[in-house]
Formats: sequence, structure tokens, C-alpha cells
Amino acid sequence: MTKDNLDLKFEDYKYVRPDLEKLIADIRALTERLINAKTVDEAIETYNELNKVTSDADSMVSLAHVKNSIDTKDEFYDKEMQFIQENFPKVEEVSVEYIREFVNSKFRKELEEKFGVYLFQKYENYLLTFNPSIIEDLVEEAKVVMEYQKLLSSCSKEWNGEQLNLTQLSKYSQDKDADVRRKATNLISEVYDEQTEKLDEIYDKIVKIRDRMAKKLGYKNFVELGYKKMGRVDYNAKDVESYRKQIVETIVPICNKLREEQRKRIGLDKLTFYDEPIFFKSGNPAPHGEKDWMLERAEKMYSELSPETKEFFDFMKRKNLFDLDAKSTKAAGGYCTYLSNWRSPFIFANFNGTTHDVEVLTHEAGHAFQVFSSRDYIPEYTWPGMESAEIHSMSMEFFTWPWMDLFFEEEADKFRYNHITHALMFLPYGALIDEFQHVVYENPELSPKERRAKYRELEKKYLPHRDYDGIKVLEEGGFWFRQRHVYQMPFYYIDYTLAQVCAFQFWNKDRKDHKTAFADYLRLCKTGGTKPFLQLLDVARLENPFINGTIKKAVEPIEEYLNSVDASKF
Ligand code: ZN
Repeated sequence: MTKDNLDLKFEDYKYVRPDLEKLIADIRALTERLINAKTVDEAIETYNELNKVTSDADSMVSLAHVKNSIDTKDEFYDKEMQFIQENFPKVEEVSVEYIREFVNSKFRKELEEKFGVYLFQKYENYLLTFNPSIIEDLVEEAKVVMEYQKLLSSCSKEWNGEQLNLTQLSKYSQDKDADVRRKATNLISEVYDEQTEKLDEIYDKIVKIRDRMAKKLGYKNFVELGYKKMGRVDYNAKDVESYRKQIVETIVPICNKLREEQRKRIGLDKLTFYDEPIFFKSGNPAPHGEKDWMLERAEKMYSELSPETKEFFDFMKRKNLFDLDAKSTKAAGGYCTYLSNWRSPFIFANFNGTTHDVEVLTHEAGHAFQVFSSRDYIPEYTWPGMESAEIHSMSMEFFTWPWMDLFFEEEADKFRYNHITHALMFLPYGALIDEFQHVVYENPELSPKERRAKYRELEKKYLPHRDYDGIKVLEEGGFWFRQRHVYQMPFYYIDYTLAQVCAFQFWNKDRKDHKTAFADYLRLCKTGGTKPFLQLLDVARLENPFINGTIKKAVEPIEEYLNSVDASKF
């Protein structure tokens, strides 16, 4: 990229539809050149050129995605997204051939020295998840997953004369007024109750398709394939099983205690599902200003945290790499992505005046900071695996704790207590969603009703405090209908918990010795995705969550902290 290009602001980033025919021809030609390469340098050259042509196309895909989510009503980008979704599988088909030749190259040893063994592990892993015989299944899977998305976004209920969708209703299910909460929660449950048959049917189809693909590729069931698709090369389902056991033994009792304290704090005889969102009688903490006010504070925060974070945040601000205001035409949710042609991270969010807004400026900024710090690597190493990527974001949430007074003023301690308590309480739910999926894919013949019964049984193990107070669809094991990962991203969910356990370790290290802790964190961010999960833990001097006892050690200091806080004053 020329310097001019790097000085551009986001609004000047120009989208051009990728020329797919040319791209496919280029990849084919590079594959031929790789096969005929006489020296290792020739082989390396094909790889560098491949990265050049594919990252041009990938940049355009990412840019179209960003523009489309900023304005979902913009027909131009809507069409471009459709074009991309329909045509990119053709590119994948030829890329696979290049990758196959690359891992089988006669220069493999020299190439490993040049690019690292991990690149080959990643590629080999990928080749084991794909075969032309499953292309039709993949297309069908994507279609059925889309049905889920469409079904839920089409559901609405009347609220004070207005039709509200599930997201809008869920805001009321967290209202301070118990009657409002109860009414909203019941309406949401009614939606899931009415849609039970369809939601069961969609999931049943998805499970059967995934199982079929696994068998075609020679696996016993979808579990091993699912792990490979997540890019996991250094741990397996057995490791995850014993990790979940640690959560049940160590975290579940702590959460029971925290829920009991919550019940007392908000003055109830029993804590039902309706009341769980209410954490403090005085309401949940919220930032004391609007977007521009928060951005000013974030700028101060990152300039004080370290020279590296200052450089990063100045870059993001100078180039307008944020889109934060909530608008009805924007897509829901928040994310961080990377636009490689412009070497720019990008942060997308929908600010709504809750703690969530500050979390965007710490969590998503943590992702953006990592990718900003690893921009010089080959594309495969720009991002690490998901379980590792969430360490950067979740740890940044903790490294920025000392600056939370800027956002929450006299409520800062309340924010901190709320933040870490919810992080702890997330672990059992994350493990529950994970174990449920293992049961589902190990037993693809289960009927939808049996699946839900199994979920309810597991829910009692991980969330024993949970009291649905007779809400039918939830008593019958239908809570996971709302967890889109179960449909869209199998086996992804546990990654958030693995990263959280690592972020807890950073929280603890930071309190003891900020300088060393932050140096470890920086080294981790700068290592990017050049190594798999367990090796990245070594780089950051973090303990392996799969080893029995790690979780206990990580949360003991947190328990101590929680015991030292008098939450009744909040
Ligand atoms: Zn994240």
C-alpha cells in the first residue's frame, strides 16, 4: 500500500467489487506455478502473490460487510453481500487446491522454516474439514441456519399498542419495575412457546446435516469435525470435558452464593428467573455521559495506559474507525473487524446508554488493539483462534478498570463489582451450552423432545439456582432456543469461558504488578495468531485452564476481592 492510501480516513475507503473470474484464474495459475517451482524461493513467491490477490478480495468483502451493517437499507451493499455469499464458495474450491499442493510441497521443510509449523497445522486441519462431496450439505446447512435467523427476527408481540421484536422486548425484561419485567418475560416466552415446533425442527435438520457431513468425511460424529472446524489443534473434547468438571466443582458453588447474596440485597423471598437481571435495588450502573463524552474519556484512558495503546487509539480516532451510535437502519449487535488493505481495525456498535457502551470501548477495542499490533504478519496469523482472541478483549476490560471512574464516577466500584460478578456467573452457563452440544452431536438420533429434556437436566447441574416459576417452554428445556451460537456456530461457546479464565489471571497479575502484567499482555497481542492456544498461553505466562486446579487458583483472589466489597451499599 502506498503512504497515501494509509492516510485515508474510513469514509474514503473505496469499495470495488472483486473480479472473481480473474481471482480464480490467478489462484489456478499460482497453483500451477507452485507445482512446477524449481526452488523454494519460487514456491515462496507464489504464496506471497496468493496473499496479495486474496487479501485484496477479502478487504472488499470486509468493507462491504461493514457498509452493509452500517446501513442495512442501502440496496447497493445489500446486493454486493448477496453476490459475495453466492459466489465466494467458488473461490474456496480453487483455494483448497492451492493449499493441498502447498502442504504437500517438496519444499515443505524449508517452507515450515520460513512460515512456521503452525501454518501447516492450520492448513492440514482445514483440509480435513473439507471435501467436494460435502459442498451441497454446506449450502443446505447455511440455508437452514438462515431460516433460524429469519424466524426469530420475524417474531414480535404487542407492547402498549406497538409491535416489538425480541430484542426490544428483552430490554423490558430487565426493567426495574417487577410487573413490567414479568410481563415482558412472559411475552418473550410466549414467542418461544409458539415457535417450539419450528425451532426444534430447524435444529433437528441442522444436527442431521452436520452429522451426515462428519460421516462423509470419515468421522464417527460431528464432535471431532466441529473441533477441527474451530481450528483447534492442541486440545480435544476430553480436555474440554474435564475443564467443564472444574467449572461445576469450583464455580457453581460460588455462583449459588452470589445469587443468594443478590436475593438478599434486592430484598426478595426467592429469586425467580424474572428477577435475575436485577442486581442492585438502585438499578444497574450506567455511564454518566453520551458517545462523544465517552470517546474523550477513552482517549485519555488509552493515552495513560501505555504508549502502544495511545498510538492505537489515536489511529482509530484519526481515521474514524468507529461506528457507535444506535440507528434503526443499522444491524444489531457489535463487532470488531479488520480491513487489511488499509491496515485498519474497525469497531461497530449500537450504543444504548448502558454499561455495554463502555464495554465496547474496552472489549472491542481489545480485539482491535490486538489486530493493530499484529498487522505485519501473513493473513493466517493476523487473528489467533477464537479462544485466544477473546483473551485480548476480556483482559483489556480488566486492564482498563483503574479508569472506570472516568465513565461511572461515584458508581465506579459498583461497576467493577457488577462486571467481575457477571464474568464469573457466565462460566457455568457457557459450559452448559457446550456440554449440551456434545450430547446432541454424540447422539444425533435423539428426538427434539429428548434433546430438550437433556438440556433441562444439564441446566440443573450448571445453574441449580435457576427458578423458572412455571414458565412452560423453559421448564421443558427450551432456554437454548435463544442462544444463536447453538444453531450458527457449533462448539464456539466454550471459547468465551476459556478466555475468561485467562483474563481472570491477568486481572490478578495486574493487581499485584501492573508493569509485568501489561508487558505480558503486550507480548501476547504482538504474537497475534502465530501460535495455537496453549503456546500463546506460554507466551503470556498464563496457566493452562485444562489443567485441574487452574480455575480454582484463578478465582480465589476474585472471591477474596468480592468478600472485601460491601455490595449492600450499592
Ligand atoms: Zn469478543
